[in-house]
Amino acid sequence: MSSKILNAIWTVAVLVFWASLIFIMGISYNYFSNVQKEQLKSETQLAYQGVSLSGADFFTDLDAKNYRITWIDAQGNVLYDNEADRQEMENHLEREEVREALESGYGEAARYSSTLAEKQLYCARRLPDGTVLRLSIVQATVWTLILGFAQPICLVIVIAFVLSFVLASRLAKKIVKPINEINLEHPEYYYGKENYREVEPLLRQINAQRIQLKNDQEQIEKTALIRQEFTANVSHELKTPLHAISGYAELLENGMVAEGDIKPFARKIRTESSRLTKLVEDIIDLTKLDNGGANDKWESCDLFMIAQNAVDSLQTAAADMDVEISIEGKPLTICGVPQHLYSIVYNLCDNAVKYNHHGGRVSVKVESDGTFAVIKIDDTGIGIPEESQERVFERFYRVDKSRSKEVGGTGLGLSIVKHAVLVHEGSIEMTSQVGEGTHFEVRIPIKRT
Ligand code: ADP
Repeated sequence: MSSKILNAIWTVAVLVFWASLIFIMGISYNYFSNVQKEQLKSETQLAYQGVSLSGADFFTDLDAKNYRITWIDAQGNVLYDNEADRQEMENHLEREEVREALESGYGEAARYSSTLAEKQLYCARRLPDGTVLRLSIVQATVWTLILGFAQPICLVIVIAFVLSFVLASRLAKKIVKPINEINLEHPEYYYGKENYREVEPLLRQINAQRIQLKNDQEQIEKTALIRQEFTANVSHELKTPLHAISGYAELLENGMVAEGDIKPFARKIRTESSRLTKLVEDIIDLTKLDNGGANDKWESCDLFMIAQNAVDSLQTAAADMDVEISIEGKPLTICGVPQHLYSIVYNLCDNAVKYNHHGGRVSVKVESDGTFAVIKIDDTGIGIPEESQERVFERFYRVDKSRSKEVGGTGLGLSIVKHAVLVHEGSIEMTSQVGEGTHFEVRIPIKRT
């Protein structure tokens, strides 16, 4: 990263340097050209005065330095030239500056030499006698100017390059140093600190992701632990009825059961088998719900009809327990998974019957408040002690183990209810009084969001 910053700073420095250099050269060239032009003009004026006063004598022993002086008569013939033999020079009438001077008294022109490396500036004036005096000077082109400056420019370039390299690498290190020192385990330490102002949004994002990752990790660990516990519990729960069944079968096989006791033994085997079946069914239900209901078929369904079916299928069991179960409400169409909705009502009503007194009552109500479908289930049963109320939704948690087993409970009913409600993005509330009864209220959004 440091080398990238260094490269960026250095590139910018070099670009700025070259741009400044080109700009300065351009301005200088312009300035020098104007100065030279003005000088040529004033020299022409001086020479004009000299020739006007002294005539041809002015040219005697003349040292014109860098200037070329040419004197031309009105027909364009060269009368004098300080650099060439006038006899060999061609007629100058067609030269732009000469023509202008003859016409208006003053003329100027600029022409490139054939090499293009030089530019010739011309300034001409008509003398009172009709002749023309012309001065010219070689003007350096921008390239000759650059060549003339080559040495100092090279020196400046070398110094600038070295200096910008040193400064850029220092700057790059200074920028990168605090970033390298960041402890990514605790990005929050750097919030509000001067050195980290620019990277603070990045640090906040890293921190948010770090917390998210930590939470996800915790969640994964928790889920793994729950699964582990569940597997252990399942094996244990399965073993109990299996042991009982094989025990009874062994007694029957060895002829250790009296003729009259065979029926009760067979009943016991059947009871244990149906407990086993119920347990396996509940485990399958729960496993499906554990997968987040990925394969569930959502559809429009009548919640009241589903609840009525659940209640109907419990009528016999309720009658056996001498419990009266009733339902009220009217058809209510909601979007849901019928199988899970049935599980919710069935398990809650099943418990309400199972943990009830003889002669007790269970009432089910299906209502709507416009947004939510509300299922209320009240029983006049044994109730749940306060300390157990939080835990009854846990897998295999039972308030009274022997009673649960006696009534064929698996310890999974309320876990299934809780998951099925969650899949529907609903909520469940419970209030209970020992000896008086329990009230469950399930709320399920009518439309799926
Ligand atoms: P189980 O198969 O044992 O009924 P659940 O998960 O359905 O398992 O319920 C957990 C425990 O909560 C039950 O064992 C029971 O002790 C208690 N419970 C559930 N519903 C009721 C109820 N309506 N009245 C009294 N106790 C209840």
